[in-house]
Amino acid sequence: MRDDFLIFGSPQIHQTEIDDVVGVLESGWLGTGPKVTEFENRFAEYKRAEHAVAVNSCTAALHLGLLAGGIGPGDEVITTAMTFCATVNTIIHTGATPVLADIDPISLNIDPRAIEVAVTERTRAIMPVHFAGRPCDMDAICAIAERHGLIVIEDCAHAVETEYKNKPAGTIGDFGCFSFYVTKNVVTGEGGMVLTTDAERAARVRMLSLHGMSRDAWKRFGGEGFKHYEVVDAGYKYNMMDLQAVIGIQQLKRVEMNWLRRGEVWCQYDEYFRDLPLTLPAEVEPWARHARHLYTILVDETCAGISRNAFLEFLASRKIGAGVHYMSIPEHKFYQSRFGWRPEDYPNSMKAGRETVSLPLSAAVSDADVEDVVDAVKGAVESACSTLR
Ligand SMILES: *Cc1c(COP(=O)(O)O)cnc(C)c1O
Repeated sequence: MRDDFLIFGSPQIHQTEIDDVVGVLESGWLGTGPKVTEFENRFAEYKRAEHAVAVNSCTAALHLGLLAGGIGPGDEVITTAMTFCATVNTIIHTGATPVLADIDPISLNIDPRAIEVAVTERTRAIMPVHFAGRPCDMDAICAIAERHGLIVIEDCAHAVETEYKNKPAGTIGDFGCFSFYVTKNVVTGEGGMVLTTDAERAARVRMLSLHGMSRDAWKRFGGEGFKHYEVVDAGYKYNMMDLQAVIGIQQLKRVEMNWLRRGEVWCQYDEYFRDLPLTLPAEVEPWARHARHLYTILVDETCAGISRNAFLEFLASRKIGAGVHYMSIPEHKFYQSRFGWRPEDYPNSMKAGRETVSLPLSAAVSDADVEDVVDAVKGAVESACSTLR
C-alpha cells in the first residue's frame, strides 16, 4: 500500500508561483492592484470575454452577478438541485427565493424541461451549473430565458476550460462566475471571477466588490498620494489581492497543459473501470468541450454490491482521498425546513447525490497515483463480491 494519503484535489504549485508570491510580499503592495488587473486581462483573453472582474471567491462572484443583474426580494431564481450549497446560498443572500430544478440523469446537468416547469411570473433568473466541467444545454436554457425575459448567471466553478458549441462557458449567459478555490482547475487559494459582456454591469460588480466605493478606490493609498473616494452603495468586501492574483497568473499559463494531463488520467480511468459494475461519466457530447474537473462515478449498491459510503471508506483505508459532489441540496435539513424541499421531489438529483464518488483528478496526480486509485476501486468492488459469495 502507498505510504502517504492521496489528498483529493490537492493543487499543483510550481516554483514560479512561490517566487511571485515572495515578490509581491517584498514589493510592499499586497492588496488589490496591478497584478489583479493583469490577471483579469489574461483571464478575459483566455475566455474570449469582454469584461472580467476578479473577486475573492466564486460565492462572491455569484452574489454580485445576481445583484448586478437586478435580482432581489420577491424574485425567484431557478437553479439545479445537484450543486454546491454556495449556488443556492447566494440567491438567498440577495433576498430572492431559490427554486430547484432536477437534473438530467445522464449528464447530471440541470434539465431544461424541469426549468420550464419551474418558471412562474416571479422568476427573474436561471443559474445553471456546468457540473463537473460538462457544459449545460445552453441553447435550450437561453431560449427559455429569452421567452420569459430572464437573466442567465452561469456557475462556472467547474468550467474554466469548458466550451459549448465553441463558445467559452461563462460568456454565453449574462454573467459567468468562476472559482479559484484550492481544489479547482486554476487556484489562487481563495478567489473568483465575474465575466460579463456589459460594461455597466462590470462596473457595478467592481464597485460592489469593494465597499460600494467609487471607481479606482483601490488606488486611494497608492504612489500618487491619498485619493478621495465617494461611497455610492452599501457594497461588500469581495476584492481579490495581488498576493492571490500572481498565483492565478502562473496557474493560467498551465491551464491547457493541465487539462490535457487530466484528460490522460480520465482515459485511463475509463479504460480500467469499463468492466466494473459502476456507472462511469457519460461520453462527452460532440458539441461539448468538457473541463474534466471531476471524474464522478456512481456506485449503485444493488449493482456494485457495496454502498457508496462503504466504498468511500474502503478508498480511505487504501489511503485514497475521494470527494462527494454533491448530496443533493434538498438532503440538507436547513433547506428542508426553510423551503419545504424533499429529496424525493428531485429524484434524479437524489439518486446521483446518494451514489456519486469523485476520484482524484488533478494535474498533481501521477501515473503511480492512478495505479493506486485503480487498485483501490477494483479492490472495493471485489471485496463486495467476496462478501456476497
Ligand atoms: C466551489 C464551488 C462554488 C464556490 O466556489 P468558492 O470559490 O469556494 O466560493 C460554487 N459553485 C460550485 C458548483 C462549486 O463547485
